[in-house]
Amino acid sequence: MDDRQFRTAMGKFSTGVTVIATEVAGEGIHGMTANAFMSVSLDPKLVVISIGEKAKVLNKIKESQTFTVNILSADQQEVSMIFAGQIKDKEVEFDRLDGKPVIPGAVTQIACEVSAEHVEGDHTLFIGKVTDIHIDDEAEPLIFYSGRYRSLLSVQPVTN
Ligand code: FAD
Ligand code: NAD
Repeated sequence: MDDRQFRTAMGKFSTGVTVIATEVAGEGIHGMTANAFMSVSLDPKLVVISIGEKAKVLNKIKESQTFTVNILSADQQEVSMIFAGQIKDKEVEFDRLDGKPVIPGAVTQIACEVSAEHVEGDHTLFIGKVTDIHIDDEAEPLIFYSGRYRSLLSVQPVTN
């Protein structure tokens, strides 16, 4: 099996799109677009993110031991592209949740402290203990499927 086949297969799992943000004292805020995000546990409240070994954000999360997960809204494709390095040199302003940097206008902002990290292959899984959450009930999420951005607004609801 080659890499392209694996990526094509994984791309058939439709996901939301998040920006993972973290802040190291003296270095400022760093964000990275990620769709490898999952809820893990209700008691205690845990989530997991998966960060590639070459991503600059990896060492920053190791150092800060905190991160936020920002679930992007349908009108934030540009934000996703900025934090995936596909749009360059755009300034982004951040809000704060539990003292940590979050993306304004996200559907949901989740503040976390790192509770464990596991190196698996060429990625590191960070388990995050959730310390605070902010939800915007009105916003629609941005969707990523087969390497393309989509919106639920263009999808017909499934009828029973
Ligand atoms: P960089 O490439 O340096 O940073 C990313 C970009 O964000 C740069 O252009 C930088 O200028 C900008 N940026 C960072 N901080 C700021 C700031 N404070 N203000 C303004 N701009 C800023 N990779 C994974 O490891 N795991 C995933 O789950 C994952 N999912 C992805 C899902 C999608 C839909 C896409 C498109 C990409 C995904 N990637 C994922 C790939 C990842 O987003 C890119 O490889 C990314 O460029 C790696 O970021 P980096 O930390 O190396 O930092
Ligand atoms: P793509 O066709 O490369 O990706 C489709 C799916 O394959 C992704 O949703 C993800 O589940 C998986 N995937 C892709 N690259 C991976 C990697 N390096 N490690 C583990 N899983 C991976 O989609 P695209 O639009 O071409 O992606 C844009 C860029 O973002 C590519 O460089 C891609 O490698 C990267 N990306 C990385 C991850 C990740 O590291 N987990 C996830 C998504 C996208």
